[in-house]
Amino acid sequence: MSGNASTDSIPVRVIVRVRPLISLELSSGAGECVTVDEKTGSVFVNDRAFLFDEVFGSKCTQDFVYSESVSDLLSSSFNGYNTTIFAYGQTGSGKTYTMGTGVDYGNDEDRKGILPRMISDLFERLDTEVEKCAKEGYSYEIHRAKSYWVIIRRFLEIYNEKVFDLMNSRNESLSIVDNGDNVLVRGLSERRIYRAADMYAVLQEGSESRSIGATEMNQQSSRSHAIFTITICKISETEGTIRGKINFVDLAGSERLEKTKATGSRAQEGISINKSLSTLSKVIEALSTHQSHIPYRESSLTRILKDSLGGNAKTVMIACVSPADSNNSETVNTLRWADQARKIQNKPVVNVDPK
Ligand code: ADP
Ligand code: MG
Repeated sequence: MSGNASTDSIPVRVIVRVRPLISLELSSGAGECVTVDEKTGSVFVNDRAFLFDEVFGSKCTQDFVYSESVSDLLSSSFNGYNTTIFAYGQTGSGKTYTMGTGVDYGNDEDRKGILPRMISDLFERLDTEVEKCAKEGYSYEIHRAKSYWVIIRRFLEIYNEKVFDLMNSRNESLSIVDNGDNVLVRGLSERRIYRAADMYAVLQEGSESRSIGATEMNQQSSRSHAIFTITICKISETEGTIRGKINFVDLAGSERLEKTKATGSRAQEGISINKSLSTLSKVIEALSTHQSHIPYRESSLTRILKDSLGGNAKTVMIACVSPADSNNSETVNTLRWADQARKIQNKPVVNVDPK
């Protein structure tokens, strides 16, 4: 990898994951209306067909989903690229399970989702890099402290357009400020991390405070978006500081948005319920139809994640769906949305601060 920034456009990679029927659906006698062809990336809902970059059927394990869909993004971030993984879909479709941002999924090795798997890989890889540097004459400690950093840049939740810090138990909302090309959240915690265990602890604590919020504010978790961001920094004598960011985004349930669309006159109400999700759809539509104005500024989520949509990042969208025939129309809506996201082009570059 050279320090030269590539300016090639690459499309957002769109993946669909179909979960198995869950006990509630089984006990209510639900049938399945979704089939997949993993070889071709096709999804069929009754007789409608959709084509994606990759499709995972209900038998795919967490490990398989991780290694096939996102594990290579880690190398990209080590090399200075920004990367983003979104999980989209109706409530109960498997977003949190797939991302691994829920409190219940951290302990069972097989059920661990993308984020905890990536954390293990990240620190394993860091150890290898550090050893390599030790051979080159640096001491392990010095290297770890001075030349490689891993920072949890943010762990936040967006609820009703307000931003809350999940690494700080004070329950006040924070403001978003535009700082030239950069969008910052004022007062957000940041933590330098040296061990995988410390990062799991932050994830666990933040996910817990998210779920406590859910019982206090009814259904908060299905209406809120959670963003966990890691930055990997490397100081190189020759190249300067190389920085790669990884965003993990567990989106709010999409069904409210779709209901809003279905009942036109109530659009305004729906927009205030979850402006971020409807703006996300507007941004994707504007990007996929090459409009000149992209409405990033209309919501907190799209302001914070502007770079991940049409900008400087390698982005993967995982659309999660239920196979149950009772969810047929939500599943079709999710797949249509995901199909549109495939038309977005990003321009990832290596982030280097020459010194
Ligand atoms: P969401 O975050 O989209 O609302 P969840 O991730 O909480 O949905 O999943 C809803 C339920 O379905 C949970 O009980 C979860 O354990 C289960 N589930 C989701 N995906 C799978 C899967 N691929 N395999 C087994 N169970 C799953
Ligand atoms: Mg969830």
